[in-house]
Amino acid sequence: MTTARIIDGKAIAEALRSDIARAVASLKSSSGVTPGLAVVLVGEDPASHVYVRNKAKQTAEAGMLSFEHRLPADTPEKDILALVARLNADDRVDGILVQLPLPKHIDAKKVIETIDPAKDVDGFHPVNAGRLAIGEQALVPCTPAGCLILAKSVSPKLTGMDAVIVGRSNIVGKPMAQLLLAEDCTVTIAHSRTRNLPEVVGRADLVIAAVGRPEMIEGDWIKPGAIVIDVGINRVPAGSGKSKLVGDVSYAAAATRAAAITPVPGGVGPMTIACLLRNTFQAACGRRHLTAPPS
Ligand code: NDP
Repeated sequence: MTTARIIDGKAIAEALRSDIARAVASLKSSSGVTPGLAVVLVGEDPASHVYVRNKAKQTAEAGMLSFEHRLPADTPEKDILALVARLNADDRVDGILVQLPLPKHIDAKKVIETIDPAKDVDGFHPVNAGRLAIGEQALVPCTPAGCLILAKSVSPKLTGMDAVIVGRSNIVGKPMAQLLLAEDCTVTIAHSRTRNLPEVVGRADLVIAAVGRPEMIEGDWIKPGAIVIDVGINRVPAGSGKSKLVGDVSYAAAATRAAAITPVPGGVGPMTIACLLRNTFQAACGRRHLTAPPS
C-alpha cells in the first residue's frame, strides 16, 4: 500500500517553466534581451535526439531563442571545438549545451573546457564545479538542481537532515552533495565500493538515488518517513516484447515506508530541462549584470 506522498515532478517543472517564461517576458520588456540557448548534438543517438527536440520546444515555449546544431557522428573534434568557440563569441547565445555522450573520437573534457564558463548552462565546466564547491554563485548542473527543488517541495528546510546520495558522478552525485551541504545537511556519498549500503541508506532522512541500476535500492532499506528522490532512468522488459522505465529505487515497496517519493517517469526527469531553462535565464542576466534570476 502506498502511503508516501508522490512528488509530482511534472507539475513542479511546469510551474517552474511558467515562472521562467514570465521572467523572460519581463527581461525582454525591461532590457530588450531575449535569452538564447544553443544545443550541439553530434551523431544519431535516438534518446539524445528526442531529448534535444524537447529542449528546443520548451526553450521556445519559455520565450527564449533556440539554436540547434546537429552534426554527423564523424565530425572531427576540431570542428566541434571551432563551433563552440563561435558560440562563445555569439552575443545572441547565452547558454551552450553540448549533448553527451559524444562519439568516442571526441574528447568530451576538451569540449566542455572550451565552453565559456559564463555560458556553461550544464554546469560541467571546472570553473562552475569549483565555484559550486566553494559556495560561490555558479551555474549548477541541472539534474541535481532539480532534485533539490523536489526535496524542498516536501521540506522547505533541509537543515540537519542526514542525506545519503548513492552515486558519485560529476553530473549528479558530486554536485548534489555540494548543494545539500549548502542546505546544511549532513551528507554521505555512497558508491560501488561502499560497505553495507542497506545500512547506510537506512540512516538517511533524504535519499538521492543516482546509480543507473533498475530498482537496486530496496524498499526495506528506506528509513520510515524519509524523502526519496530517484534520479535513475532504466529501461527494462515489461513482457510481450514491450519495455518500461523504472528508477533505481524499488518504488512500490519504498512508497510504503517513505514520507514522500518521486515516481519514474514523472519525477526528476521533467525537472532537468526546466532547470536548464533557468540556467539559461541566469546566464543571460549574469553576463549582462542584470536583475537576479528566479529561484
Ligand atoms: P554514472 O554511471 O556516471 O554513475 C553511477 C554511480 O553509481 C557511480 O558513482 C557508481 O559508483 C555508482 N554505483 C554503481 N553501482 C553501484 C552499486 N552497486 N552500489 C552503489 N553505487 C553504485 O551515472 P549518472 O550519475 O550519470 O546517472 C545515474 C542515473 O541517473 C542513470 O540511471 C541515469 O540514466 C540517470 N540520470 C537521469 C537524469 C534525469 O534527468 N532524470 C539525468 C542524469 C542521469 P562508482 O563511482 O564506484 O563506479
